[in-house]
Amino acid sequence: MNKFLILVVEDDAPVRNLITTTLKAHDYRFIIAANGNTAVMETASHNPDIILLDLGLPDIDGVEVIRQIRNWSIVPIIVISARSEDSDKIDALDAGADDYLTKPFSVDELLARLRATQRRLALMQNGSPQAVYVNGQLRIDYASGCAYLNGKEMHLTPIEYKLLCLLAQNTGKVLTHKFITQSVWGNSWENDVGSLRVFMATLRKKLEKPHDSPQYIQTHIGIGYRMLKIE
Ligand code: CA
Repeated sequence: MNKFLILVVEDDAPVRNLITTTLKAHDYRFIIAANGNTAVMETASHNPDIILLDLGLPDIDGVEVIRQIRNWSIVPIIVISARSEDSDKIDALDAGADDYLTKPFSVDELLARLRATQRRLALMQNGSPQAVYVNGQLRIDYASGCAYLNGKEMHLTPIEYKLLCLLAQNTGKVLTHKFITQSVWGNSWENDVGSLRVFMATLRKKLEKPHDSPQYIQTHIGIGYRMLKIE
C-alpha cells in the first residue's frame, strides 16, 4: 500500500473518477472534495500529503483555495486546470501552487508529476538543508559558493550562481518569472523578465550540453523555469 494520501479537488465527476481510478490502480490512498470550502476543511482535518486541485470550482476559486491553505500548510499542491491562459497558471503558482497540469492531461503525465512531488517531499522531510547539492553531474557546494559540472568548476557570475542556487533549492517546482526576479533582485519590474532571460541564457550555456536539449532547466514559456531532478 502506498502510504501517500492524496486530496482530489474536482467538481466534474467524470474527471474526478478518472483521477481516483488512476490513484486506486497505483495504490495511492485518496479523499475527495467537490468544492473549494470542502477542500480547505478536508486539508485541515486529514492533512493530505499532496493536493490535486481544479481551479474552476463552484463556490470559491481554486486560487483562493491555495491562498487559504498556504496560511498554515506547505502541502504540495498540483493544479489541474482546463484554463490554458498563462495568467491563471501564474496566479496559482504565485499563490503557492507547486506545479500544474493542463486538461486534457494523460494519466502517465499525472503519475509522473505525483512521483516527482513525492521525491521532493522526501528531500524536504530529510531535515536540515544540505551543505552540498547533487543532481546528475551538477554539484553545488553552498559553503564555498562553488558549482561543479562533471567534476569541473563552473565559472559563474554572482547572478548566475544565485539563479542556479534558487532553482536547485526548488528542484521539481515551477518558479514564476516574478518569484525569481524578486528573489534574485529583491524587486520585480516588467523589464526584469528581459534581464532574467539574458542571465538564464548565459547560465544554460554553461550548464546544458548540448545547448539545444536542456537536461537540467526546463522552460515554461510565458511562466517561468523549473530545475528537473535527473533520474
Ligand atoms: Ca471545474
